[in-house]
Amino acid sequence: MGGRDWPLGHWGGLLALCLLLLVGAAASLGCAWDRGSRRVAARLRPRAAEEAASHPPPLPLVTPAALLAVEQEGRRVVDALRQKLAQAEERAQKFETLFERMVEAVLVIDGDRRIRAANPAAVALLGRRERQEVEGRTVLETVRNAPLQQFILHVLAENDQLKVAETEIVLHGSEAERVVQVHGVRLPGEGGAILVCTDISRLKRLENLRQEFVANVSHELKTPVTAIAGFLETLLDGALREPEQARRFVAIALDNARRLGAIIDDLLLLSRIEQEGGRERVGLTRQALRPLVERAVDLCRPLASDRGVPVAWVCEAGLEAAVNGPLLEQALVNLLTNAVTYSDPGKTVRLRVGRSPTGGVWLSVEDEGMGIEPAHLPRLFERFYRTDKARSRRRGGTGLGLAIVKHIAVAHGGQVTVRSTPGRGSVFTICLPGTDGAVLREDSD
Ligand code: ADP
Repeated sequence: MGGRDWPLGHWGGLLALCLLLLVGAAASLGCAWDRGSRRVAARLRPRAAEEAASHPPPLPLVTPAALLAVEQEGRRVVDALRQKLAQAEERAQKFETLFERMVEAVLVIDGDRRIRAANPAAVALLGRRERQEVEGRTVLETVRNAPLQQFILHVLAENDQLKVAETEIVLHGSEAERVVQVHGVRLPGEGGAILVCTDISRLKRLENLRQEFVANVSHELKTPVTAIAGFLETLLDGALREPEQARRFVAIALDNARRLGAIIDDLLLLSRIEQEGGRERVGLTRQALRPLVERAVDLCRPLASDRGVPVAWVCEAGLEAAVNGPLLEQALVNLLTNAVTYSDPGKTVRLRVGRSPTGGVWLSVEDEGMGIEPAHLPRLFERFYRTDKARSRRRGGTGLGLAIVKHIAVAHGGQVTVRSTPGRGSVFTICLPGTDGAVLREDSD
C-alpha cells in the first residue's frame, strides 16, 4: 500500500531534505568562512608585517662577560682609529708646513697646465704677492716664458713617472734677471706635474766671479812671467856679452819677479782672510790702536819720502778695540800706500782714528791726490779692478790692495767705504763695530 509507503517515503524524503539543507548550509557556511577569513587575513597581513618589524626576533641571550669583551674590542678599534687619524693629521700638518716654508718654489700643475697649488716661494718667484694671483691660472697666463712652457710639455709627456727632468731657465722680472733651476716630475693618475724651482742666480754670479777671477789671476801672473822669460831669452841670445844692456835686462827681470812675488803674497793673504773669515775665527784681541797705527805709518815712510808726500796722523793714546793687529796694520799700509802713490809730491796724506758714538772705531786715510771718477767707485774693491791699469802697474800695484782692505774690514765685522772727488782727493774709511755689533758708517758721523 501506497499509504504506508508514503509516511515512510515522507520521513525518508524529509530526512533527505534535511540532509540536503545541512550540506547546503555547511557548504555556504564554508564559503562564507573562507571569504571572511581571506578578507581578515588580507587586512591583518600588513599589520603583522609592521608588528614583526617593530618587534625583531629576540636576540640570543648574551652574558655580561661577552658584552664586556665586545665593549673592550669596540674601544680598542675606536682608539686605533683615533690614533691613525691623529697621525694622518700630523703628517698632513707637517707636509703643509714643509710646503709653505720651503725655500724652493713648488708648483703643482694639472694636465691643462693650470696651476693647482703654489707655495709662497713660488708666488714670489713668479713676481706675485698673493696666492690667488697664481692658483687656478695657467702657467702661460702667469709667466710668459717659452722655455718653461716647453719644459712643462716635456714633463707632461714623460711616460716614466719616476724620471725627474731638469732644466735652467732665465726669468726676466721687473727688478732683476734671475737664473732658475727647474726640476719636474709627472704626477701619477690623471696627469699633471710637480715643478720644484730653485733660484740659482747667486750661485751663477759666484761661478762667473770665480771664472773671472781665475782668468784675471792667470793674466796677472802671465804678464811678469812673460816679461822675465823674454828678457832672459834676450840675454841668452847675446845680450849677456854687453854688460850694460845685460845689467838693464836683469834689473827688469828682477822687477817682474818681485811683482810676481807681490801678487802671489797678496793672493795668499786674501785666501787666508777668506778661509779664516768670520769674526770668531780671525782672532780678535782687545788692544791699543796707537802702536798699530804708528807701525803702519813707519812702514810707509820710505815710499812717502821717496815721493815727497808727507804723512800726518792722529790717534788718541787710550783708544782700544778688539782687532787682529797684523791684519788691521796691513789694511792701513795698503790704504796709505795708495794714498801716497796716487798723490803728487807736496800733497799731504792724513790718517785719523776715532771712536764712534756707538762705541765702534773708525780709521780714515785721506789724500789730496788725483781722486777717482764716480763710475769706478762701485767696483773699486773688486780684485784686480784698476781705474788705470798702466799707471797701477808702473807704480808696482797688484790690483789686490783694496780687495784685501775690504776682506780685512769684513773679517772684523766691519766695512770700508770711499768718498772721492776727481782732481781733489779721496777718503777711505774702515769702520769697525762697537760693543753692540753696530757698524757706524763714516758719513753718518
Ligand atoms: P793697486 O795695486 O792697483 O793700487 P788697489 O786695489 O789698491 O790696486 O787699488 C785699485 C785701484 O783703485 C787702483 O788701481 C787705483 O786706480 C784706484 N785707487 C786706489 N786708491 C786710490 C787713491 N787713493 N787715489 C786714487 N785712486 C786710487
